Amino acid sequence: MQIIKTIEELQIFKNNNFGKSIGFIPTMGALHLGHLSLIDNAISNNDVVIVSIFVNPTQFGANEDFDIYPRMEEKDIELCRSISVDAIFMPSVDTLYPSGIDDEVILLPPNKMASVFEGAIRENHFSGVLRVVLKLFNLINPTNAYFGKKDAQQLLIIKKMVNDLFINTNIIPCDIIRDKNNLALSSRNTYLDHASYEMALKIPNAIQAAISLVMANVLESKQIENAAMECLSGLEIDYCNVVDFNLEKIDQVKKDSSLLIIAARVGKVRLIDNCWF
Ligand code: AMP
Repeated sequence: MQIIKTIEELQIFKNNNFGKSIGFIPTMGALHLGHLSLIDNAISNNDVVIVSIFVNPTQFGANEDFDIYPRMEEKDIELCRSISVDAIFMPSVDTLYPSGIDDEVILLPPNKMASVFEGAIRENHFSGVLRVVLKLFNLINPTNAYFGKKDAQQLLIIKKMVNDLFINTNIIPCDIIRDKNNLALSSRNTYLDHASYEMALKIPNAIQAAISLVMANVLESKQIENAAMECLSGLEIDYCNVVDFNLEKIDQVKKDSSLLIIAARVGKVRLIDNCWF
């Protein structure tokens, strides 16, 4: 497995693998089984697999956890090596933002999709996500890029970018991986102590309540949201809404084109989760 830090090294790797299909998994590291499921999917369907590990400063707000975001490079490298990833791309901030993060062309995310939910709470978050994903796509030119449904809004906005800008990469959505108690895996789960972990389990319980209602053909959004919110009582809820793939609130669940999205805080830890109907 090659560890690539510069654009020149990346270019050499690409030249050496000319003509092969490339599966790409962008991550911020602190890899867990959620990331591994994306990587497995890529390994099964591409000639060559590249994982990027980059804690992207432009997608963090001033009061967010950029400085303390878990970084475990050595462990991540060993994990990727053990499952035969072909290359890890771990650039520095200067490598990806050579003009400096405050002085370069910025991509504007679509306002309707990016100013709501995560975008309403995390100012400029999606602008930062699109900046880094577009840079990575331009550098790597992947055949297929793998994203978790866990970050539903991110996935839908990236799909729109690829569509709007005619980017020649297939976006492959991957299922949410959960722990044995159904909590969606996240690098931020490491912030949870025992008591807050127990509280956090209210979130998958809310998801499960919503799924049960939809399976019983209760499709009214209000009913689904209320049932989910009841499960979340005691947590600070940022949002809990049934939406369509444009992130617009809808009155009724439509099969195969809607989801319930939840963001809630357990103490200082903010967690997101969702289910796709
Ligand atoms: P991150 O390192 O948090 O930026 O995540 C990198 C990729 O892994 C994103 O596409 C996430 O949606 C995906 N991901 C994170 N957690 C999970 C999970 N529990 N299940 C599936 N995909 C995930």
